[in-house]
Amino acid sequence: MNTEASPSPATPSAPVAPAYRGAGLDLRDLTLAYGEVDVVRSISLRVEPGTTTCVIGPSGSGKSTLLRGINRLHEPKSGDVLLDGASTLGQHPDQLRRKIGMVFQHFNLFPDHSALENVALSPWKVKRLSKKEAIDLARARLDEVGLRDRADHRPKDLSGGQQQRVAIARALAMEPQVMLFDEATSALDPELVNGVLNLMASLSRRGMTMVVVTHEMGFARRAANQVVFMDEGQVVETGTPEDIFDRPRSARLQRFLSEVL
Ligand code: ADP
Ligand code: MG
Repeated sequence: MNTEASPSPATPSAPVAPAYRGAGLDLRDLTLAYGEVDVVRSISLRVEPGTTTCVIGPSGSGKSTLLRGINRLHEPKSGDVLLDGASTLGQHPDQLRRKIGMVFQHFNLFPDHSALENVALSPWKVKRLSKKEAIDLARARLDEVGLRDRADHRPKDLSGGQQQRVAIARALAMEPQVMLFDEATSALDPELVNGVLNLMASLSRRGMTMVVVTHEMGFARRAANQVVFMDEGQVVETGTPEDIFDRPRSARLQRFLSEVL
């Protein structure tokens, strides 16, 4: 049995499936550079509130840099990111990162803290909740990702899939309006991938706004409202999963799909 896909049962006091109200996200002519080299070139993109956009494309095409530009882990060279229609450029990056959560390939959990502490730390330290409030919130989020019974485990005592679900719970605990996922399942053993993808699909169904960089074409097909194909720092094609996977127009996308599918 795949235990990753079997979250703990809910309790009445801690609803495990809250609805989300994701924000609309607009990228306007976003350009990101490393030194003199523009690696994301003038990307404009609309992500409707509560929808999921999957970004696909070859290695080195600028997908990670694009995500890092959206929450300002990488300062854009030019262009803007709008949340619910409002420019975020004037906001301090720390402020923005409370609204835009990010999940990485390598989890980035604090190794010396339990799962519960990993989830509670930012609500306590950054959001300034009381310790009890932060811990209650963390328990609810761990419940939501099916890890209530792993609250006291350190990351090293959790499977990769469980660690990634803790990382997702940690991002959710900040009550973000948008969630970014950068190859969140690429570092996982194959049998652990589906548990994490199912959790992501569940967030998507419940109204979170998500931008998901992924090599999982099956996930993109089933969970995305919109698929974006990037190559060489630019958006080459955007469309529904059917448009992108069944009716690719450009030779570059056709070639990419023939290599990955
Ligand atoms: P992807 O996520 O699609 O694989 P990246 O956004 O990681 O692509 O990289 C886009 C481009 O930026 C690549 O050409 C890559 O070599 C370059 N790049 C990425 N990180 C750095 C860095 N820290 N310094 C210089 N160039 C980088
Ligand atoms: Mg990448």
